[in-house]
Formats: sequence, C-alpha cells, structure tokens
Amino acid sequence: CGIVGYVGNRNSQNILIEGLKKLEYRGYDSAGVAVYTTEGLQVKKSKGRLAVLETKLGDEPLNGTIGIGHTRWATHGKPSDINSHPHTDNSLKFSVVHNGIIENYISLKEELTAQGHVFVSETDTEVISHLIASLYQGDIVKAVQQAVTRMRGAFALGVLTEYEPDKLVAVRLQSPLIIGVGEGENFIGSDIPAILEYTRNVYILNDGEMAVLTREGVELMTLEGNFISRELFHVDWDI
Ligand code: GLU
Repeated sequence: CGIVGYVGNRNSQNILIEGLKKLEYRGYDSAGVAVYTTEGLQVKKSKGRLAVLETKLGDEPLNGTIGIGHTRWATHGKPSDINSHPHTDNSLKFSVVHNGIIENYISLKEELTAQGHVFVSETDTEVISHLIASLYQGDIVKAVQQAVTRMRGAFALGVLTEYEPDKLVAVRLQSPLIIGVGEGENFIGSDIPAILEYTRNVYILNDGEMAVLTREGVELMTLEGNFISRELFHVDWDI
C-alpha cells in the first residue's frame, strides 16, 4: 500500500524505513525492502509492523545506496513473510514493489510457469518480477515497458535489477506515485510525506507515465517511451 525508493550516496536502508513510516497512515499488514549490496540484490521482509522489519534489519543490516521499500495491504494472498514485497524472479536479479492489483495475473502466471518460472508466493505481484525477468534483454527500461503492456489493472511499481544497479525504474498507472529530486540523490514515494524530509522538489507522475532515476538525475517518459519535460513542483508545506 506504500512504496518508497532511493538512489544516492547515502545508506538507503534507513531512508527507506523512515519513508515507509510516513506512509503508515495508508494502512498495511507487512513490510519489506530490497537493497543492492556488495553481495547483489538482497531482500528483507516480514509480516507485521515496521518494527518487526526494523528488528530484522538491525540484526543484519543491508548496506547499499540504492533500494526500494514497501508496506503491503494484502489483496491476493494472506499476509505472510513470503507474500510480503519486494518480490523477485527465480534468478534473484530483479526486484519489484507494487501497489494495486494485477487483474490478469492468473493467465500470466500460467504462461510464465509453462516457461519454467517457479512461483513462491500467492500474490498477483510476483508475476511482475518474473515477467520483467523473462522480457529482459539488457535494458531494464524496455523490459518494464514491455511488461506493462501485458499487465491489466492498477499499479504503481518500483523496480530494481542487479544488471543495472544504478537505475531505479518507477511506473504509475492508477495508483499514486511521486518522484523526489535531490542533489546527487533521487527518491520515489506513494505520497509526498515519504520524501519531504529529504527534498521539497517533486515531480508528480500522471497515469501512464514512468520515471528512470539515477544518482545524476531523473528522466520522465510515457509508458511508450516518449520523453516528457515537466516543471518541478516545489512543496511549501510541512507535515
Ligand atoms: N496486490 C498486491 C498484493 O496483495 C499489492 C497490495 C498493495 O497495494 O499493498 O500483494
């Protein structure tokens, strides 16, 4: 139900957790993060309050400067550690957080299972990470665009791949998502409070738009890949 993402030069774990705390008002039953570390993409997630995740991360921190985080409000699959986001593919090279519902997930799951993908959760979301992995040919932006053409429903997504560990890809279709623009660091969030501690410069994504974030900047484009230029929105209120 809440998404956050960070790419920059600071340790991402605490920025993700603090951002998720600001989204607690949206309600959730589980939480998780994925961070690109020296050992590759690593995921920690658990059913329950953010405090449970924080304890897990306190015992074994994930050190890395790019990551995504999620608080889940279960729609498909009970609240459990495995059904929590982020979800990955079988190679563990792709990681996805998702708000919303993938209406055609059963047919996508059948198709991907026939291709040899093995599903571990009961969620609709898990088809997204497998689908992106199956379409990936060296360009994560293209793979996400192609995946989205196959997906029906409402979604906001944050996507990371170990193959392009400097990029955070975000998509908005009928679920809210904003981009925070900092200096040498950029953010995604379901809502402005998630990132307001770090920057007041924001792009509001519209339905059918996506963003590619690196440490150096943010590119906005349509889901078809047409670049968009947009004025930054300056947030002049406080939480
Ligand atoms: N439909 C997804 C799930 O049940 C995402 C729910 C959400 O928006 O938190 O895992």
